[in-house]
Amino acid sequence: MPYTLRMRVLFAAAEVHPFSKTGGLADVAGALPVALAALGHEVLVVTPWYRDLNGAPLWIGDVDVPLSGGFETAGVGTLERDGVRYVFIGHEAFQRDGLYGHADDVWRFALFSRAIPQAAQRVQFLPDVVHANDWHSAALPLILERGWHLPPGFSGLPAVFTVHNVQFQGESGLDEAIFWLRLPADADGSWLNRFGTANFMQGALGSSHHVTTVSPTYAREIQEPGFGFGLDGSFGTLAEEGRLTGILNGIDTRYWDPSTDPHLDLQYGPGDAAAGKADAKKRLARHFGLDPERPLMAAVSRLAEQKGIDILLATVPELLQQGWSVLVLGSGDAELEERMRHLARQQPQFAAVTGFDESLAHRIYAAADVLAVPSRFEPCGLTQMIAHRYGALPLVRSTGGLRDSVTHLRDGFSFDEAAPWSLGDAAGLATRTYGTPAWQQMQQAAMARDHSWTESARRYAALYSVIVGG
Ligand code: ADP
Repeated sequence: MPYTLRMRVLFAAAEVHPFSKTGGLADVAGALPVALAALGHEVLVVTPWYRDLNGAPLWIGDVDVPLSGGFETAGVGTLERDGVRYVFIGHEAFQRDGLYGHADDVWRFALFSRAIPQAAQRVQFLPDVVHANDWHSAALPLILERGWHLPPGFSGLPAVFTVHNVQFQGESGLDEAIFWLRLPADADGSWLNRFGTANFMQGALGSSHHVTTVSPTYAREIQEPGFGFGLDGSFGTLAEEGRLTGILNGIDTRYWDPSTDPHLDLQYGPGDAAAGKADAKKRLARHFGLDPERPLMAAVSRLAEQKGIDILLATVPELLQQGWSVLVLGSGDAELEERMRHLARQQPQFAAVTGFDESLAHRIYAAADVLAVPSRFEPCGLTQMIAHRYGALPLVRSTGGLRDSVTHLRDGFSFDEAAPWSLGDAAGLATRTYGTPAWQQMQQAAMARDHSWTESARRYAALYSVIVGG
């Protein structure tokens, strides 16, 4: 695909590492724009200015956001980092505990999406292409296509929309959504209308020039009823029209690097992985009362049905019998958190940490021999790629991006069924391989994998240039 232009890309996301994070969207929004900038493009990232933001933007003024039949005032803050300019949208709706989980989330992110063109104009950034991500900014393509009160130059701008997880779509009453977003009444005939309610993600599928998702396998899977969460038909239509592409995520290989990681006491690379990993394991095992002589299987995960941590917990007795120690760091579902704590009280070689702990996550990737990712579905998944980088072999369910990024018996282990017996079988294979020369080979192969963003960023840039040119 041709591309040589220096393009101006407006990238919108509800969370951006290192400023805010609950999961992989933040990693992507933190790394892809930097990779695009490194290719020579001019990138503006727009994100909410949360109360607990990790960073200090400079407030540059307010903008009037067309919202709910009138205008709402929002603050605009900026900062620059790694060749990328960041704009933060401030409003009292973001002065709360946590990023999400509030009753008015759909309105909060309608406000966010509606504020983006005004905030971009405030910093005099007129993009060539707009890239929105997940349901939180899904209203943006529709606003650009049909919304009133857009700054000059924004009406009809080409948009790319990336689906990071189709499970969360953003839904509200149809009349409310049209009123909030200040769309013309005939917007009820757009893809926003899903059986009489507003579905923000579907709205973006209909109004974006191109839709991407975060792995080739997930791009196929979401066209099936089991994976599409009701939008499978829409994805099928997009695919037929040639408007759906899967581009595998990368990871920020400067940030996720055991040879420079400040969270580790002993940094290591492929040449001294054994010593570095043994040190990390010894420290972690001591802290959690685990036996450092045993192989360590770990998981770092949101606790949600999607992630299959319940499957892992159900397999723990067998894993312990196979000789593993098991450590899970996770936050989310309260019932799963309680199950983890309960199991930890019963089984001395199982440890559970509930909460979100970035530093501990780094130390776990370094200490783990195996990182389990037993997801029921997985759009891309980043933890298996981080594991590769830290010389932990991923043990993954063969789905979505896990299938596209882990090669069974070369740099990890995979299993097919979302069931304890299937996970247990794959773990048995890992047990038999552990401590053999084959393990070392697999570990070296894992650490040698290139999960950097460079190639995928090129693919996004090529896509933008086709859209901008077309
Ligand atoms: P998700 O579906 O949650 O976005 P990904 O695998 O794409 O899953 O990304 C998960 C990201 O969040 C990784 O950077 C991982 O290290 C991090 N993470 C997940 N849970 C925790 C936790 N409890 N504490 C610290 N980091 C976590």
